[in-house]
Amino acid sequence: MKIICIGRNYAAHIDELDNVRSDEPVIFIKPDTAIAQPNLPFFIPEFSNELHHEVEVLLRINRVGKHIQSKFAYKYYDQIGLGIDFTARDIQQQLKLEGLPWEKAKAFDGSAFVGKWFDKSTLGDLGKLTFSLQKNGEVVQAADTSLMLWSIDEIIAYVSKYFTLKIGDIIFTGTPAGVSQLVKNDRLEGHLNGQKAFSLIVK
Ligand code: MG
Repeated sequence: MKIICIGRNYAAHIDELDNVRSDEPVIFIKPDTAIAQPNLPFFIPEFSNELHHEVEVLLRINRVGKHIQSKFAYKYYDQIGLGIDFTARDIQQQLKLEGLPWEKAKAFDGSAFVGKWFDKSTLGDLGKLTFSLQKNGEVVQAADTSLMLWSIDEIIAYVSKYFTLKIGDIIFTGTPAGVSQLVKNDRLEGHLNGQKAFSLIVK
């Protein structure tokens, strides 16, 4: 399986990192080795001095598809989740300055944390899903999917122009504003539509 991630999908987050709003979605991929092991803490990798959380709504692909039209995209996923795109921001900034790919900053082992999956039929309007991340009991990121620059179905249509989607693939749909640095012993908790999706400890 593969993990396809969307960057720069929320205007306020583009502004907080001084990025330019692109005309098309920004895409990058994490390998299956990036999936965090369940029930283990997240370990800050030794090569980063500025590790950030990015909470994101996730889609789990349940049909093989290529060149999927936006109006049919809903047929290709039936589970929605919440996860964290862990990012070595110091490494990413350096790679961006040099015009190099982001994988070292974004696709390292354990960088894709996946919380609980919810059946999409239980979540109501997917264009208005609320979600949040608490750090040590305080909400640091909170948004809803209506703030996405590209909707879930538009993301699937765009991504499937380039990559065949396969059963079990996971799409990270981008992070809203409020990213921040993590330190040892931080406690993270994610909620999707008011339901707890995960909790984890940083080590
Ligand atoms: Mg992200």
